[in-house]
Amino acid sequence: MNKKIDLRNLTFEELKNWITGLGLETYRAEQISRWIFQPDLQTFDQMTNLSRKWRGLFQEQAYLSQLIILKVEKSSDGARKFLFELEDGEHIESVLIPERGHYTLCVSSQVGCAQRCRFCFTGKMGLKRNLKSSEIINQVLTVQGHLTETDPLLTNIVLMGMGEPLDNFENTIRALKTLLSPFGMQFSHRHVTLSTAGLVPEMKALGNILPVNLALSLNAADDATRNRLMPINRKYPLDPLIQACKEFLLPHKKRITIEYILIKGINDSPQAARSLAKLLSGVKAKINLIPFNAHPGVGFKPPDEEGLSKFQDILIRSQYTTIIRRSKGTDISAACGQLHALWTGGSRPVLGGRQEKEGERRGMKEEGRR
Ligand code: SF4
Repeated sequence: MNKKIDLRNLTFEELKNWITGLGLETYRAEQISRWIFQPDLQTFDQMTNLSRKWRGLFQEQAYLSQLIILKVEKSSDGARKFLFELEDGEHIESVLIPERGHYTLCVSSQVGCAQRCRFCFTGKMGLKRNLKSSEIINQVLTVQGHLTETDPLLTNIVLMGMGEPLDNFENTIRALKTLLSPFGMQFSHRHVTLSTAGLVPEMKALGNILPVNLALSLNAADDATRNRLMPINRKYPLDPLIQACKEFLLPHKKRITIEYILIKGINDSPQAARSLAKLLSGVKAKINLIPFNAHPGVGFKPPDEEGLSKFQDILIRSQYTTIIRRSKGTDISAACGQLHALWTGGSRPVLGGRQEKEGERRGMKEEGRR
């Protein structure tokens, strides 16, 4: 067990306290923080604007955690899935998604997940443990270090991989602070999205702490269906959940993304679409429809194309921006809901949650949305 302090696991405030505790001037914290979150920084000797004495002291007392890349798989659609090993030998994955002119990285927040949503392969693992803040951050740093000069920039982060980020609240908040810090990773809060299954108290707390985008994995417009698909709904049913969405403090001009995985015969009827439109009345929302991605051990099926199109039309007629998203990386088992972290020395699929924009169809009057 490493007794040294992992500087990548500290928030900026904690780093400042640590530095001043050693006797360094406060202003050095910004300089050192910028070093720590450089993707290519591996040893303190690379911090060339610090004296040898201080670098030696850092070496004695601290270290910079890193993830080991076990495998990178590339999909025919350009998505890349990274399988990482953690310090204790557990495994997680991140998925790099090419978009128009930039990359989005889908990162994990837990090893496994306790929520056990019926349509999700990750949920079948149960929860092994929470990720530390540094393990969330290091997924981003490691992938950034893997990119070359010919790659577009990695500008967007979605916490939509393995795990429920709000179930690992403290470490997720710490990681988000570093991602957004001008002395840390410097991502725009407009380009960082947290996806939740609907942990109501933590949703409220998140909005009060940080201005990030929120995605809600909704998947049903009535409690009976949602109870069946997502056990969390028994604890936080639709009434308080939708109220929490209405009250959530979003970045300026942003809307909550409602994710709706369409499963044939379960939640894809025209009546379900009408109920969804009614349920979201008063929520600043846009809707992503995601056809179910098959994985072992689940008898669900994706909707047929006609049903999918009809479902979308009903929502558009109700003035909601509604997008059909096809998952990227299906050929490398990196698609939404297919994820399952299992490393046996061979390659195994992990994570979930990246979708490709297929086509955006807007309601006639977006401003007039209900
Ligand atoms: S969908 Fe998300 S919250 Fe539900 S089991 Fe999968 S990883 Fe967990």
